[in-house]
Amino acid sequence: MTDWEVISKLYPVYGEAEFDFAANSTIGCGGKARGVLYPANVSETEKIFRFFRSEKIPFLPLGNGSNILASDRGMDGFVLRLERMKHIAYLGNGVLYADAGVSVRDLSAFCLENNLTGCEFLCGIPATLGGLLYMNAGVTGFHIGDIADSVVALGDGGIRIVPNEECAFGNKTSVFMQTKEIILGAKLKLAPAEKYIILQKKNYFLSRRKDLPYGKSMGCVFVNPQGISAGALIQMAGMKGKRIGGAVVSEKHANFILNTGGATSADIQRLIAEIRSAVYRLSGVNLKEEIQYIGAFT
Ligand SMILES: Cc1cc2nc3c(=O)[nH]c(=O)nc-3n(C[C@H](O)[C@H](O)[C@H](O)COP(=O)(O)OP(=O)(O)OC[C@H]3O[C@@H](n4cnc5c(N)ncnc54)[C@H](O)[C@@H]3O)c2cc1C
Repeated sequence: MTDWEVISKLYPVYGEAEFDFAANSTIGCGGKARGVLYPANVSETEKIFRFFRSEKIPFLPLGNGSNILASDRGMDGFVLRLERMKHIAYLGNGVLYADAGVSVRDLSAFCLENNLTGCEFLCGIPATLGGLLYMNAGVTGFHIGDIADSVVALGDGGIRIVPNEECAFGNKTSVFMQTKEIILGAKLKLAPAEKYIILQKKNYFLSRRKDLPYGKSMGCVFVNPQGISAGALIQMAGMKGKRIGGAVVSEKHANFILNTGGATSADIQRLIAEIRSAVYRLSGVNLKEEIQYIGAFT
């Protein structure tokens, strides 16, 4: 029996025997995983997690696939997608609890409906709450770590509530990059506000995004070094418009790589390496990727 057959017999969790990263990522490239499971609640997630750990089967929690680059050879393991876990509850005093699979769009609609302000800066990011917390995503001056009161995470020791101070939110980093726990959800600290104020803020943050490149991308590829914009460094290094295969450095925003059609993950990896060398030669700055690599790259 294959792993997939064992899992689907033991744990009747909704899933599929194959998972294609190209079809399930915003950049649109990458190979396949051995399968995907979509647990509907914490108990299903916990059972699957324990099974994977006891059988030593590699797995990867995945959100909307908006900041990943999966190898063209895919990943020798299973994807765990929490998109069916998408409850949100208002707890009072400006605090809400949301499951990891909640999308930015649903979070933002819930906040408007319940007159809550504080997460408008997320509008336009094509992400789930789990991915946002893992990456400490946000925009200049505003990050999810600023509004996360605590995070619920599942690891070998069971389920734990991680207070904000222990989440080690940093410049596109969090403690979950080390612990490799599955983020199940979080309490977010917001504040009551009139709807028109929330809408004004939403429109302001959406308008800041209007010049971002359109098309298949992973958002920003590199973390901004302290006090400098990675995009500006890449532009100064003359890399705007540089192309390898179907992958091209955006003319609009040099920190974006676009898949203009038929790009492979290897094309993108080579382009990233060329950008890093060009920036290093020009400025001595070693750019660090924000995107998360999945599977083996040579
Ligand atoms: C057009 C575009 C615009 C973007 N704009 C922004 C922006 O303004 N600011 C910004 O910060 N980012 C931006 N991004 C990048 C991306 O949306 C964010 O990094 C986002 O947080 C990723 O969320 P996701 O749900 O897609 O995570 P994924 O890409 O699916 O996963 C990212 C990482 O998080 C891990 N992960 C996901 N869910 C869980 C979980 N439940 N438990 C544990 N680990 C998990 C994955 O294993 C992976 O390592 C943009 C991307 C695109 C394509």
